[in-house]
Amino acid sequence: MEKRTDRTDVVVVGGGMAGLAAACYLAREGVGVTLVEKASAPGGRAATRSFDGFYLNRGIHAIYTGGAASRVLAELGVTYAYGTPPKETFVRREGVLHTFPADPLGILRTSLFGARDRVDLVRFFATLSLARPGEAAHVSVQEWLDRRVRRPRVRRLLEGLARTLVYSSALDLVSAEVFVDRLRRSLRHPVHYVEGGWQTLVDGLREVAERNGACILVGTRALGVEHHEGLVRGVRLKDGSLIPASAVIVATRPHDALGLVDGDTNPALRRIVDGLLPGRLACLDVALSRLPSSRYTVVQDLDRPQFMSVQSAYAQLAPEGGAVIHAFKQLDPRGLDDPRQDERDLEGLLDAAQPGWREVLVRRQYLPRIEAVGALPTAARGGFAGRPGTEVPGFTNLYLAGDWVGPEGFLLDASMASARRAAELVLRRAPSSGKSTAGSRVSG
Ligand SMILES: Cc1cc2nc3c(=O)[nH]c(=O)nc-3n(C[C@H](O)[C@H](O)[C@H](O)COP(=O)(O)OP(=O)(O)OC[C@H]3O[C@@H](n4cnc5c(N)ncnc54)[C@H](O)[C@@H]3O)c2cc1C
Repeated sequence: MEKRTDRTDVVVVGGGMAGLAAACYLAREGVGVTLVEKASAPGGRAATRSFDGFYLNRGIHAIYTGGAASRVLAELGVTYAYGTPPKETFVRREGVLHTFPADPLGILRTSLFGARDRVDLVRFFATLSLARPGEAAHVSVQEWLDRRVRRPRVRRLLEGLARTLVYSSALDLVSAEVFVDRLRRSLRHPVHYVEGGWQTLVDGLREVAERNGACILVGTRALGVEHHEGLVRGVRLKDGSLIPASAVIVATRPHDALGLVDGDTNPALRRIVDGLLPGRLACLDVALSRLPSSRYTVVQDLDRPQFMSVQSAYAQLAPEGGAVIHAFKQLDPRGLDDPRQDERDLEGLLDAAQPGWREVLVRRQYLPRIEAVGALPTAARGGFAGRPGTEVPGFTNLYLAGDWVGPEGFLLDASMASARRAAELVLRRAPSSGKSTAGSRVSG
């Protein structure tokens, strides 16, 4: 059932992590916020399916701590239980699983390399701390690695790692800033696997928003942002009604935002959105009644652009004795291959690391072309700074939020940083903040 809103100053379109975070920031300041979400529940790509004690995220999800996501969750008081993946992980090369050299000791122990390769890898990690992510913004990951890593085997290892970290196999396009930033951060800050899946975060944000008075309307599709010569008046819903508002935050994926803002009359936004390159993945998620092998729980594939993790080995995601494995293949958005082949490749990785998994399968979820990130930061656009800004050219009091917006962070970090920024701009520019301005939802 839809709720009627008593008082709306700001409408947020989209109830994913970005929309929910923006609603929390505004509601906390006493702004009347209505959030509309077209799905039957909030969460967007962060939603989790739960059944019989299993929790399956929509593809592999982990929080890379030490960035905007951690900061925003802490500021909003959203806490969660988590586990961290082990230091000892593995790589698959030519079908054989080897210990992954994640630290200097691992580099000395691994069967992956000979002595000269080890020296090259140690040198790489030693100079990484001197690299400034921003300085690598205009260089592709591939070029950056080619310049720094001499030994082919070491380069192959780092290319595999890079694909996993930048969520794409298009290393010749993606800005090295993403790789350097994420690699450096992952060496200093732990990765969190969230207990109960990312739904825990969604529920936490929803609770904060509603406790502070935000009105969340689910099953409510926005059709368009209403404006007069660029000055925002509210949001028109699919049922024809209008929610009047003095500001609107659009927290959807890029093409949905374009549709809402009427790209035909706003060529500037159309040009921005048409130029974005989404990061797509093929994800295979499996729930098992038991884990076939407790040894190979985290595997980086070097034979194909793939990675897998038994997240349930480190966080509460399965019932007693059960297991949840997430595997994903990084795709090249310029030329997507056969999704059936991608699925077979992912199954092959599970066969190598967890033989017998098919016999204990409870449920599987295959997401062949899921958009993991709305815009890959490319070298051609200068990395993070090349993404669209929070404000929409040609509009007043219309703001964007999402993982394709703003100059900070990647994936959830970008969503949360842009949501915070959008809320900040609304608060800064609305002298009416804290007071009721617009009326209730009206038919129009
Ligand atoms: C497979 C996969 C793996 C990922 N792994 C990680 C990870 O490990 N770490 C990490 O940090 N990030 C990861 N991400 C990214 C992370 O999930 C996203 O950055 C984040 O969830 C995006 O939130 P959002 O609110 O910006 O967008 P979304 O979640 O896409 O939310 C947009 C919402 O808008 C709604 N909407 C759209 N149009 C309308 C309309 N007209 N009216 C009303 N509502 C509308 C949609 O229904 C949706 O709920 C991953 C993503 C995927 C898909």
